[in-house]
Amino acid sequence: MVHTVLTHGDPMLLMADVQLERAVSRLGFDEAMLDWLRTPERKLQVAVPVRMDDGQIQVFDGFRVQHSTARGPAKGGIRYHPQVTMEEVQALATLMTWKCGVVGIPFGGGKGGISVDARQLSTAERERMTRRYAAMILPIIGSRRDIPAPDVDTDAQTMAWFDDTITMFKGYADPAVVTGKPVDLGGSLGRAEATSRGMAHCTLLALDKLNVDIDDVTIAVQGYGNVGRNYAEIMDREFPAKIIAISDVTGAYFNGDGFDTQEIAQFLRRTGGLLEGLDQEKPHIERITNEGLLTCDVDVLAPAAIEGQITGANANDVRAKVIIEGANGPTTIGGHEKLTARNVLVVPDILANAGGVTVSYFEWVQGLQFHAWTLDEVATRLERIMINAFENVWEVSQNHGISMREAAFMVAVDRVAQAMLTRGLFP
Ligand code: NAD
Repeated sequence: MVHTVLTHGDPMLLMADVQLERAVSRLGFDEAMLDWLRTPERKLQVAVPVRMDDGQIQVFDGFRVQHSTARGPAKGGIRYHPQVTMEEVQALATLMTWKCGVVGIPFGGGKGGISVDARQLSTAERERMTRRYAAMILPIIGSRRDIPAPDVDTDAQTMAWFDDTITMFKGYADPAVVTGKPVDLGGSLGRAEATSRGMAHCTLLALDKLNVDIDDVTIAVQGYGNVGRNYAEIMDREFPAKIIAISDVTGAYFNGDGFDTQEIAQFLRRTGGLLEGLDQEKPHIERITNEGLLTCDVDVLAPAAIEGQITGANANDVRAKVIIEGANGPTTIGGHEKLTARNVLVVPDILANAGGVTVSYFEWVQGLQFHAWTLDEVATRLERIMINAFENVWEVSQNHGISMREAAFMVAVDRVAQAMLTRGLFP
């Protein structure tokens, strides 16, 4: 039987599945191999009964999927969202396999989640739910089996509860059982900005390939959250790049002279984290539309907010020479085809934002060794991995005359397939 991935029309998951098929075909593998590569190794659904603060019991559906362990333990986040389903978790676990594969870290893909609107829960309810979920998926979790991390609506505190629950069951400390922990509990220095730092490395490498000097490069950043804000700050403070457009859920803002990200940080401290009203701050800051940000005249566009932003409808209007996909799935298949036809250099999400999972891997290594690296060690190792991964994908894209996205999937799928074939089929 040939298994398909149910994508529910989700553009990100559809893109990943199309790219898997293309990679398998380019690599010369057959249908059976495609089926083997696509099918998750293990899927677990659990009941998560929680005593609410009012004494009533509510039962939530919890999931954990291990897509692949061919190259190492499964690795991937846990999300709390009302729309979490087994199909979504499965597709996201698959995507993690390719992300770990493209940067060459020894993990396969995993993902988990609970179908819940966690913003409606009190902190105590959230803790009880997290601990019950951790206990329910414990049989398949472990530092050498499957290592969760934060994702949508879960954070370092969630990981601390998760880690503590596993410690209670096992009776000994195992700091490598989850990543994204608070630094005091064995989290890694540099994790918070790792995704953005990886994007910064990709930006420099991509500009270099186009012979564009970083001096005076202009950048538009969509989304000013963890990923977008850290990226803007790194590019503004450490390089002579000009951040001329930024946005968040409140709107988009343009400053032809370049934003001072330190001033924005002060502004955000006053407003509680949102950019609303930024155009009132200085006369030369203009409010623009989201479309205006995506299509403004810049060298680099960094979509770092949500999925499905560059589509068949607007891709031809995008003027950036380089796109650094900080968000997962910011470009739809339609957008991808148009950008590829126009030779826009797109560093795809599975490569551009893989700095996050790479430093999660460092956190895991530090946890296994009960040892903490310095920020400098983390940064140097991250840079080495990002450069190697970028150059490898670039070379494949040049050799095959394909986009970096197609090349990234080829690299990742080939690594996973080779690991499966070398291990052989048990029994
Ligand atoms: P976040 O919630 O911290 O930030 C998201 C930002 O996007 C916020 O500023 C929000 O206001 C903004 N936003 C939301 N909707 C928007 C819209 N319609 N237009 C413009 N801005 C909008 O999230 P994050 O952790 O920064 O993640 C951003 C993206 O990066 C997601 O796709 C996530 O999956 C991906 N990602 C994150 C990490 C990580 O380490 N945090 C790693 C890999 C990939």
